[in-house]
Amino acid sequence: MKFGYSDTCLEHDTGGRHPETPDRLRAIKRGLTRKHGVEYVEADPASVAAVEAIHDPEYVAAVEEFCASGGGNWDPDTVAVEETWDAALESAGLAQWAATAALDGNQGRETPFSIGRPPGHHALSDDAMGFCFFNNAAVAAQTALDRVDRVAIVDWDVHHGNGTQEIFEDRSDVLYASLHEDGLYPGTGDAEEIGTGEGEGTTCNVPLPAGTDDGGYLYAVEEVLAPTIERFDPGLLLVSAGFDAHRHDPISRMRVSTDGFGHLTIALREIADDVEAPIAFVLEGGYGLDTLSEGVAMVHEVFDGHVPVETESEPDEEVEGIVADLRERHGLGP
Ligand code: ZN
Repeated sequence: MKFGYSDTCLEHDTGGRHPETPDRLRAIKRGLTRKHGVEYVEADPASVAAVEAIHDPEYVAAVEEFCASGGGNWDPDTVAVEETWDAALESAGLAQWAATAALDGNQGRETPFSIGRPPGHHALSDDAMGFCFFNNAAVAAQTALDRVDRVAIVDWDVHHGNGTQEIFEDRSDVLYASLHEDGLYPGTGDAEEIGTGEGEGTTCNVPLPAGTDDGGYLYAVEEVLAPTIERFDPGLLLVSAGFDAHRHDPISRMRVSTDGFGHLTIALREIADDVEAPIAFVLEGGYGLDTLSEGVAMVHEVFDGHVPVETESEPDEEVEGIVADLRERHGLGP
């Protein structure tokens, strides 16, 4: 894969006790050392105009001012330093690069993955929250819409991407589909939230019970996400790739294995191939340094031709019930 990376994203210093640390990027790079076919690309930061295509200009100005005055706690979870402004623009710029590189072609072993931070999917149109300032995937999707009619965002971070949903929920040109742990922060992402107005039907939430493992995730992707994305027929598939659903991540109770992330990658690549859309990955969360680096490396290895270990887990009855409900709700047939 080609990884979008910049040292600028290390400068967003969240302090010694924060889970979203620069060490996350260092761990990812360490995990990719000696892997075959890894290439790094440093993209330009996003322009303020590109960020303002997603976020309210007053909010963007407030973030700039907050950082310029030294930062601090925007809210109890979300902290900034002076350098956060540049890191946030860079993180959004890396996501734009990933979308653009995917559209330029060169898929397969050249598939782009932006590893920026701060992450983005909790960032609302007019507020920062959940460690996120600018919604990187949303900025990337908006950029891609200059070239394609529709973009699908699949978010497998263990948390619901409330920001991405809010930004696009009333629009028909972006599909937002999320797999997340039911009841976890930020508490949004119910199955009933399917979009509003012209965007009705282009939000697809799959809240999964704590403890869901590879089999449940793959079943939900095959039975709900695949037909939803095929019907939507996007020109680009963006993956909001967090790795905090890993069974050993410290902040969730999901049970996805490292190989499970490989199977998820294969499943999404197959969906993208079916709709003849390129695919690009944008880093979100993931707070166990080892599991984060293993997860990213697994995605890379899948694109490098590696076959993950076969999974023996099956969806349980609760997941089957959730999936059946979602298929009905979204008109996907019995
Ligand atoms: Zn997360």
